[in-house]
Amino acid sequence: MMENQSGPNVEENLAIIRKNIAHAMEKSGRSDSVRIMAVTKTVSPERVNQALALGIDLIGENRVQELIEKYDSYDRKKCEIHFIGHLQTNKVKYIVDKVDMIESLDSIRLAEEIERQCKRIGRTMKVLVQVNAGREESKYGVYPEDVPGFMEKVSYFPHLRVQGLMAVVPKCKEYAEICKYFMNMNHLFLDSRLKNIDNINMVCLSMGMTNDYGLAVENGATIIRIGRGLFGERPKAL
Ligand SMILES: *Cc1c(COP(=O)(O)O)cnc(C)c1O
Repeated sequence: MMENQSGPNVEENLAIIRKNIAHAMEKSGRSDSVRIMAVTKTVSPERVNQALALGIDLIGENRVQELIEKYDSYDRKKCEIHFIGHLQTNKVKYIVDKVDMIESLDSIRLAEEIERQCKRIGRTMKVLVQVNAGREESKYGVYPEDVPGFMEKVSYFPHLRVQGLMAVVPKCKEYAEICKYFMNMNHLFLDSRLKNIDNINMVCLSMGMTNDYGLAVENGATIIRIGRGLFGERPKAL
């Protein structure tokens, strides 16, 4: 993996990622497309802009503070911004005018606040339901079995547009184990689509990161979220 500070290697890294995606698509017989999200935590706006210049058109932000600090420096005409970190309800107001999608919708309370803030500024917000695929206590997200009921509730918020699911999966040692989580997510995604709920359009399945995105693509991911694989290792503990 390339070093964070030194590398002009975003270009090389991106080429590798594209090749791996193509391989996974072929292996699984997919002919649709996968979007690469550049996950920008700890990465300078200059380096993010470099990725945008190379054709990345989607960036993922984890932290409200960091998003606010970097927002004006981004070459935003070239990209969409998705919020992907845990979002506290009292911070929603700082980002509703800045992001194109909130992928980390994990509670009805948060949905209520997004609804309130979007109504205030007169816009709708695309959201993904964050799924805690391994039912881990340490992680945020709706448990898989609660997703249908959760989506039904969110469908009644006039300023929210559910577009799909965002998966958080446990760290796994075995390939087969992580594969199982991705397959389950894909089933949940496709089942939800079949339900045809009003105001819900199941088009995004956001799953897979640097270590497992190939497997995620094989299992139907439409957005993969890549940090280290593009920009290099992050400083420790982030
Ligand atoms: C950091 C992060 C990623 C990217 O992780 P990498 O291993 O660096 O690719 C993806 N999704 C979320 C929610 C993250 O916080």
